[in-house]
Amino acid sequence: MILVDEALQTILGTVTPLPVEKVNILAALSRVLGEDIVAPRHLPPTNNSAMDGYAVRAGDTEGAKSTSPVILDVIEDIPAGTVPRKALAIGQASRIMTGAPLPKGADAVIRMEDTRKDGHQVYIHVEARQGLDIRRAGEDVREGETVIFSGSVVRPAEVGMLAALGRSFVSVYQRPVVAILATGDELVDIDEPPSSWKIISSNSYATAAQVIESGATVMQLGIVKDRRENLIEKFRAATRADLIISSGGVSVGDYDLVKDIMKEVGNAMQFWQVAMRPGKPLAFGSIQGVPVFGLPGNPVSSMVSFEQFVRPSILKMMGHRNLYRKMIRATLEEDLAKKEGMRYFMRGQVRWEAGRYYVRSTGEQGSGILKSMVRANSLIVLPEQTTSVLKGEEVLVQLLDRSMEQTDHPDYV
Ligand code: AMP
Ligand code: MG
Repeated sequence: MILVDEALQTILGTVTPLPVEKVNILAALSRVLGEDIVAPRHLPPTNNSAMDGYAVRAGDTEGAKSTSPVILDVIEDIPAGTVPRKALAIGQASRIMTGAPLPKGADAVIRMEDTRKDGHQVYIHVEARQGLDIRRAGEDVREGETVIFSGSVVRPAEVGMLAALGRSFVSVYQRPVVAILATGDELVDIDEPPSSWKIISSNSYATAAQVIESGATVMQLGIVKDRRENLIEKFRAATRADLIISSGGVSVGDYDLVKDIMKEVGNAMQFWQVAMRPGKPLAFGSIQGVPVFGLPGNPVSSMVSFEQFVRPSILKMMGHRNLYRKMIRATLEEDLAKKEGMRYFMRGQVRWEAGRYYVRSTGEQGSGILKSMVRANSLIVLPEQTTSVLKGEEVLVQLLDRSMEQTDHPDYV
């Protein structure tokens, strides 16, 4: 039996990032960039107006006030998207809209509100300094500048920047294809006729959902009987994937053959059993270079093991640097006891009140109590050496979703 941290270290030492592929920038959302993004040109490409108003020569506006305006001749109308044709000479202005390129000779824009038009002339009510209300070429991004670095997660802002730079396709790390198989003679699929001695393979679905939520692609291999030949065949088939997850068959029962098969087919079981609860009977190894997780069969154990070991692996394969769920500190609302030497992951319900987090367990913590996961938004993580924690003490809590990262509406005053 090894410690959780050792297990994680071993696993992350085995899995490596996948190659990159080119995808459309919208398909790149939430994925990790596999290239540096260098600007092919300035952004904005030319000096342009930041306001609707008049392009002027700042010098011409010297001394302008609403009581003694400067009068300029309007020589051109420049809507956004057009190219100015006329250069400004002394005493001239061009009517210009936001985003339109500045005409030659202009070095400031007077906003509409500070002007009054009268036929072919405009009355300027304020004095402009050079550069007023002009967006300079390259003020956002300079040609040749590295704007986004390889390894960054693509968020809407990055999608916008890529589009602004004229990139419709971009390199991102591939999504791993994850083979999922459930082992157990007692298992049936959802739509098969139920009988009292059979159970529905909920793990096939919970695991698939976790895989999808992590950003990877599911290869569903269904249910396998606890028979050597069937298991060997399925595990062999699974090596087409980038990662293999099986559930069940890793305990100490007569029909728990997965560990043996992993040894036999892969000849590379790296460890079995982790000092944690739930999830102790985890087996990890690889078959033909494909990492294999033998998750425990109990639905809660399977989900918690996935969270601790498989999700970080998938994220690493997808090029992510931040592999872990957000951890917070919360005040415990009940006494909890545990066995020394094991790390506990108790299903928790976190809430935010008056500026701090509180957490309580979701009740019955058996590894077959799937409802404890349904009721949970977090896992209360109790370290190996701990034997008890009391109400009012602070505990570490792993948030399972983002709902609790956002709390009540902030007070801005
Ligand atoms: P095992 O580790 O194979 O002994 O499985 C432990 C228990 O987990 C079994 O008795 C089942 O009740 C449950 N179990 C195993 N596989 C699944 C599955 N795919 N879906 C739901 N429950 C499962
Ligand atoms: Mg079984």
